Amino acid sequence: MTQTLPLTAPTPPSLLADASSRLEAALQHVNLSEDALGRLKSPKASLMVAIPVRMDDGSLRVFQGYRVRYDDTRGPGKGGVRYHPSVTLDEVQSLAFWMTFKAALLNLPFGGAKGGITLNPKELSRAELERLSRGYIDAIADFIGPDVDILAPDMYTNAMIMGWMMDQYSIIKRQVSPAVVTGKPLAMGGSAGRSTATAQGAFNVMTTLLPKFDQQPSNTTIAIQGFGKVGAALAALLYEAGYKVVAVSDSQGGIYNPQGLDIPAIRAYKSDRVTRRNSLQSVYCEGSVCQLAHHEVVSNTELLTLDVDVLVPAALENQITAANAADIRARYIFEVANGPTTSTADPILAAQDIWLCPDILVNAGGVTVSYFEWVQNRSGLYWTLPEIHQRLQTKMVAEAEATWAIAQERQTSMRTAAYIHALNRLGEALDAKGTQDYYVER
Ligand code: NAD
Repeated sequence: MTQTLPLTAPTPPSLLADASSRLEAALQHVNLSEDALGRLKSPKASLMVAIPVRMDDGSLRVFQGYRVRYDDTRGPGKGGVRYHPSVTLDEVQSLAFWMTFKAALLNLPFGGAKGGITLNPKELSRAELERLSRGYIDAIADFIGPDVDILAPDMYTNAMIMGWMMDQYSIIKRQVSPAVVTGKPLAMGGSAGRSTATAQGAFNVMTTLLPKFDQQPSNTTIAIQGFGKVGAALAALLYEAGYKVVAVSDSQGGIYNPQGLDIPAIRAYKSDRVTRRNSLQSVYCEGSVCQLAHHEVVSNTELLTLDVDVLVPAALENQITAANAADIRARYIFEVANGPTTSTADPILAAQDIWLCPDILVNAGGVTVSYFEWVQNRSGLYWTLPEIHQRLQTKMVAEAEATWAIAQERQTSMRTAAYIHALNRLGEALDAKGTQDYYVER
């Protein structure tokens, strides 16, 4: 039998369309003008660039790069730059969309933006990575700027790369421009507290909201998926505050002890540069940590369904889905990762009375301290770590309380409340530019 191929490949569902579908519930509670809604439906500007890079062996490779400014009504665009093989224009647009709402939710004077380059960064030498990062800035220099669009680190980009980017922009503009990039090394105008800001902000949100359910440190067990920059730092803060962190995991697997894990010992073990025992699984059966705490090995799938009070996904997107949502036994979820819960999982969790605090609030500490870095770069006055922590706490607590109040008043989920809160601010700013009511005589 002859098989026929479809003439056109099926169109994959758009990530941007999925991201914006989250707005629908919020729109029912917001008096958004038609004009504002129209403007928010598509990104303001999307730039695609080809970046030619001379490789170490003399060959030339051309990489595909993107920068998207979704909306800049409330201020210049703000968002990270991602280096990953899966980067596409659609992904960058949907991340820029999320950034627009995150900045508005935290009341930062920024719009939303995002950038990325499609590559596997592990295949490049450090010198190639530097040439690529500087080439990216050469290609997008006219699209960004301290008052236009400000870059930051994201997946597989770090402070060193931000330093190269800021330096390249300064070379092009013939003036030192630290405020065009945040997340820089401290010595190049970075901010105290930036590297742990996301964990610190998540900690502020958790310690503000958990007591509302009478969850005090001593009676709260927590499982954290992802023991990276954010997950490990958050685990340490929660441990120090007296919470019982009973399970943590990384890409290799996880460990679980219902009595609570010794987080400082596990962090020390993970960062042991002498033995380079980097996976948590090796903690189970080797070295001194096994003597410090008894624990069993769990897979990442098992960790998500442990019988704990609080689940913190802090690794990747799409971890809680329609396939496993019904098995989740935690009563509270705080989304530290971006997009760890799919839109199809949300109603399944709600049906089980699982309360969820959304990513755009929980992980906004990073962009908030990025804002502080930008302010410090522009004023030339640098703040101490306690000052940063104090300012961050004030902002995170205020917006967590405001989102909570909206959820209570409107009887919505925290996710919908967060979008309502952000949409109110965005709508107000968009309408302040003028709506059809100003121009049409009625
Ligand atoms: P990271 O790369 O430092 O850590 C990621 C962790 O997840 C690592 O421990 C890794 O081993 C683990 N991991 C990878 N695959 C996994 C899997 N299949 N199952 C379980 N664990 C797995 O990244 P990070 O900076 O800690 O970011 C974590 C999440 O937080 C991401 O979703 C990121 O977008 C989000 N986030 C980070 C920041 C920030 O400031 N770093 C800000 C906002 C949001």
